[in-house]
Amino acid sequence: MTQTSAAARALRFPLADPLFHSLQGEGATLGRPSVFVRLMGCTVGCAWCDTKYSWAGPPAAELSGEDILAYCRARPGRQVVVTGGEPLESPFFEPLLILLHEAGLRVEVETSGYLEPSLVALAFADQWNVSPKLASAGIGDEKKPRALGWLRRANEPYLKFVLHKPAEIAEVDAMLQALGLADWPPERVIISPGGKKFEDMNKRLLPLAEAALARGFRFTPRLHVILWGDKRGV
Ligand code: SF4
Repeated sequence: MTQTSAAARALRFPLADPLFHSLQGEGATLGRPSVFVRLMGCTVGCAWCDTKYSWAGPPAAELSGEDILAYCRARPGRQVVVTGGEPLESPFFEPLLILLHEAGLRVEVETSGYLEPSLVALAFADQWNVSPKLASAGIGDEKKPRALGWLRRANEPYLKFVLHKPAEIAEVDAMLQALGLADWPPERVIISPGGKKFEDMNKRLLPLAEAALARGFRFTPRLHVILWGDKRGV
């Protein structure tokens, strides 16, 4: 155990949800059993955010690094999703990655992409699910990614866009151009339908799947919404 990992075990991590074990609901590893660590805090302010309770405290749980590792070890899968909130805003993000990585766990990070990860974070995360927000999120320019060149140095990088109507795919094209990612592999772009409830998401599935297919992008529904709807902690 390194000194940094030992220090992380003793830290108390503020979480927006208690730890939970579920199926990864979105993206490239859809359906993979995972422990979810939802770090507290987000200032991005997406209008359609389905975890607004994660924006500000008080946290739903405060667990030591040792507690987090014990929970992960007691569940099958060895996969952990670090999410939020916006985890890259949290001072606990890097210690958490070090803790999980040094314990031999596979770590996926969910981020909006407006903050560039440090070299430490790039070294310790096994997959990046980066979800830049389109106009429908109603956020300020300062909360949108200005550059995503770091994706080319990241392990297993994916861009994930939440769409509410097929016409928004033109925004995806424009964003890739503007961010210098016009040559980004389309199989590393994932289109996902918005909607907190299954009824809302269901009507978007086919039109958005067809729009994604026409570009060669991947498409995934949001599995947790199909299975559990708007329930928290799944
Ligand atoms: S970045 Fe994520 S957590 Fe933050 S407001 Fe947007 S959807 Fe919600």
